[in-house]
Amino acid sequence: MAYNIDPKQQAVRDEVREFCRKHDIIKKGVELDRRPEPAQFPFDYFNILAKAGFMKYSYPTIYGGGGKSGLEYNTMIEEFAYHDPATSLLISIQQLAGQPIIHYGNDYLKEKYLKPAANGDLIMCFMLTEPEAGSDASNQKTVATSDGDNYVINGEKIFIMHGDIAEAGVLFCKIKEEGIRDRVSTLIIDLKQSGVTQRTLEYKMGMKCATTGHIKLENVLVPKKNLLGELGKGFRFAMQTLDGARIGIAAQAVGIAQRAFDEALSYSKKRMAFGAPIAKLQAIQWMIADMSCQLEAARMLTYKASLMWDRGEKFGTEAAQAKLFATEAAGFCVDKAMQIHGGYGFIEEFSPIGKLYRDQRVTEIYEGTSEIQRLVIASNLLK
Ligand SMILES: Cc1cc2nc3c(=O)[nH]c(=O)nc-3n(C[C@H](O)[C@H](O)[C@H](O)COP(=O)(O)OP(=O)(O)OC[C@H]3O[C@@H](n4cnc5c(N)ncnc54)[C@H](O)[C@@H]3O)c2cc1C
Repeated sequence: MAYNIDPKQQAVRDEVREFCRKHDIIKKGVELDRRPEPAQFPFDYFNILAKAGFMKYSYPTIYGGGGKSGLEYNTMIEEFAYHDPATSLLISIQQLAGQPIIHYGNDYLKEKYLKPAANGDLIMCFMLTEPEAGSDASNQKTVATSDGDNYVINGEKIFIMHGDIAEAGVLFCKIKEEGIRDRVSTLIIDLKQSGVTQRTLEYKMGMKCATTGHIKLENVLVPKKNLLGELGKGFRFAMQTLDGARIGIAAQAVGIAQRAFDEALSYSKKRMAFGAPIAKLQAIQWMIADMSCQLEAARMLTYKASLMWDRGEKFGTEAAQAKLFATEAAGFCVDKAMQIHGGYGFIEEFSPIGKLYRDQRVTEIYEGTSEIQRLVIASNLLK
């Protein structure tokens, strides 16, 4: 059963907790959160995480990966998010970009891109969102036109994690070619070449350790052999990749909610008001009770979706349920933790609650907003 963590999952928890203790990830996360703008990508930190095997945690072993299950991967993300949510995001992007190659790439593409990405020698990004294609992701304006053995790409991508520095990306665009219908396809694009402009987006609200980029593509060449899977199937590949990735965001939210809960519980026992710890006040107890219910339900939905993934079952509805519920539960928990901390929650000199509050907010937005998750769940149920 999902509620009873098994020895493998416990081993992941122990591994990540020990790593976070050894490298003082809580302190590192705060330092990176406070670095001045424009925030530079933390290459050294990325390399430490890559060397420890976290970037390739669930890549198949034949491509140099860790071969971990979905449940183990999501447990790893949950634990990192507990210590520093942005570190869990930094790790998850290699997973997000690697998944389409694992599932749809041929041996050539796996050898060229997946293997170096597994070791952290190649930083990749997932290039779906455009200025006019966010929730409406099929409205891609980036186009590829045929030119001999190459495609010539023109377009623009925004909000791309690591897009400011990534060396290669999984690009979604429309391919204009004789006989091909105007549908989205997927290519792997090398980003360190002429015609590519990469820029760091500044003054992000939270999740600052991982950087976010804006990419312009002007007459950029991509060899035709860099096509992932079949022409015209790219939108399906993007949605299938996001189904899996949404469980990761749910796990990130569970980690955030657990930390907010632990901080609030501990603070409520120490903070005195009217001659007694505030934990003695029923108003505070109710907040703690409500937080614990939200947290546990979020965790169960997340593990359930992970287990379904591992069993090879269809999990699109459950992934959307987990993402929707867990990210909103994390929003509830960080808000209540702030309330319980009073002024000491609002000022980051005194507590981590303000940072958790800022880091949590985007979980309800990226990889499909809460509204889009509701749409996915309802449309699957009403089929
Ligand atoms: C920090 C960060 C990192 C990101 N990383 C990546 C990345 O690595 N790669 C990538 O490709 N993208 C990435 N994104 C993009 C992210 O997935 C989009 O921001 C998200 O999908 C929402 O799109 P949008 O911002 O254009 O909002 P819009 O689509 O403009 O939505 C605005 C509002 O309208 C609502 N809305 C829109 N359509 C509907 C509908 N049909 N029904 C009900 N409500 C609707 C939305 O829910 C939202 O409330 C990232 C975004 C952020 C902020």
